[in-house]
Amino acid sequence: MTGDTPKVTFSVVAPIYNERENVPELYRRVRSSLEGMGEPWELILVDDGSTDGSTDAIRALAAHDPHVRRVLFARNFGHQIAVTAGLDHSRGKATIIIDADLQDPPEIIPEMAARWREGFEVVYAVRAEREGESWFKRFTAALFYRVIYRITDVKIPLDTGDFRLLDRKVVDALGRMRERHRFLRGMSAWVGFRQIGVPYKRVARQAGETKYPFRKMLRLALNAVTGFSYFPLQLATYFGFTSAGLSILAIPVVIVMRLAGSPAFTGQATTLIAVLFLGGVQLISLGILGEYIGRLYDEAKGRPLYVLREAPDDPTG
Ligand code: UDP
Ligand code: MG
Repeated sequence: MTGDTPKVTFSVVAPIYNERENVPELYRRVRSSLEGMGEPWELILVDDGSTDGSTDAIRALAAHDPHVRRVLFARNFGHQIAVTAGLDHSRGKATIIIDADLQDPPEIIPEMAARWREGFEVVYAVRAEREGESWFKRFTAALFYRVIYRITDVKIPLDTGDFRLLDRKVVDALGRMRERHRFLRGMSAWVGFRQIGVPYKRVARQAGETKYPFRKMLRLALNAVTGFSYFPLQLATYFGFTSAGLSILAIPVVIVMRLAGSPAFTGQATTLIAVLFLGGVQLISLGILGEYIGRLYDEAKGRPLYVLREAPDDPTG
């Protein structure tokens, strides 16, 4: 490290996975928003293993404007990891995380910065409205935020995404949390500090398709649940007690019915249904255990969160 590291007030971090059409417009809008604030800034573009030429667009921007710094992954590591790499490289007193598809308008950054100057360390953007997304996406998102809110131990604000401003202290705290299966919204709620929301209208993607197919959304949801709650693990216990309790109650009932000459509970079907039902519950419980154990195993390996192809301070070439 050289002694003359530039002083940066605002770092903007954008994860990019195949967003070729969006990169130039993102740069233009972030620049005009940040130049309006009259403070030194940087834009960190993290290429999460794009295959559509986004990488070259990022390289070109970084070569042409020293405000732009590039972090290029060796492959696709996923959105949450890409944001983490951006945070790891950010130098600002405050860092803003923003999606590259311009669903998060850079124009509200000055408003977020104003709340930060009032003393809030986490300023998250709240989706007051969403447009241009399917009812399925909106429904699953709404359900997801509500389930997470109920069953996790940290109070993650409803309808917030990763679009947020984080004070240096928060970025440093997150930097020390190296868990592999990351849910940054939860993590940034977990660290505490003074937090506040700023409402915004989430518009449709500027170009391209969502990079979050159902499979990735499900994985993120599982990371959120397993990362912040033991509730699914306890389900097996609750269920075990309930079914054991019910079967004890059933013993005298069945004896009395038999003595009274009732033909109930004599068929194979009853047995079969009970066996299949309990077998199913047991397999589901095993699956839940598996989700936690797999994550434990990943953590135990202690691999780095990401591998870089090019880092910001590498010479351009
Ligand atoms: N993204 C990424 N890696 C991935 C998937 C997505 O870096 O594996 C980026 C993507 O380029 C975008 C942001 O994460 O900047 C949010 O993704 P997207 O807009 O597809 O998600 P949605 O808004 O549909 O939930
Ligand atoms: Mg998007």
